[in-house]
Amino acid sequence: MTTTIASRLHAVQARIDTVAHSLGRRSDEITLLAASKTNPAENLREAWLAGQKIFGENYLQEALAKMQHLTDLPIEWHFIGPIQSNKTRRIAENFSWVHSVDRTKIADRLSKDRSESLPPLQICLQVNVSGEASKSGVAPEELSSLAAHVVRLPRLKLRGLMAVPELTTATALQRSQFHMLWELFDRLKRDGYALDTLSMGMSEDMDVAIAEGATMVRVGTAIFGPRRYLIPEELAALAAKKAQAL
Ligand SMILES: *Cc1c(COP(=O)(O)O)cnc(C)c1O
Repeated sequence: MTTTIASRLHAVQARIDTVAHSLGRRSDEITLLAASKTNPAENLREAWLAGQKIFGENYLQEALAKMQHLTDLPIEWHFIGPIQSNKTRRIAENFSWVHSVDRTKIADRLSKDRSESLPPLQICLQVNVSGEASKSGVAPEELSSLAAHVVRLPRLKLRGLMAVPELTTATALQRSQFHMLWELFDRLKRDGYALDTLSMGMSEDMDVAIAEGATMVRVGTAIFGPRRYLIPEELAALAAKKAQAL
């Protein structure tokens, strides 16, 4: 039996339902974003036809090329990768959401670059919950001042927080990093921010993320199958491991 994107997608949706129900959460509180980097446009189309509406991309050039092949589908595009300041204009023009805002300069540019004719760009602030120097994300201590800045920008709508915890098999460590993000989210809400999105959890750790309060999980491999090549962050992590071992 060959495993298709449609059957893997349905298995992921079923998993979300099962985990949510076992925690007493409703499964419609948890949105599934298909993280489609390195997949060709046909794979996204296949997932769309099987019911997936929201896709996340990490690299602008790759995303724009795919979008050209999918203009007939009203996909909701989310940008989830590192942002260089010279890319903000085309990100602001082509995406509905950005999950990876981690500094004021990028937020200012995205707001300035977002057209008046489009709804505000929906924003999550990426937090570095693992403290790894190589990781993107605002430091937890600097989050509240970044949030205070972003919430005043006219063309952005602050929706919540995002994190990519340390790649580790240590479930307790991973869980504590998801919990930290939930605590930061809860604190901001108690400070009066109207936030509704906690973007955390990937193929390997979505159960734990949902247990810690995720409202959006970003799933790639479990929907599309293994990626055939490594993304730059994965290459960098491998190189760092190798350097440590020497
Ligand atoms: C690739 C990626 C994901 C999905 O990872 P999988 O392990 O393939 O599920 C989620 N979030 C971000 C930011 C990613 O780059």
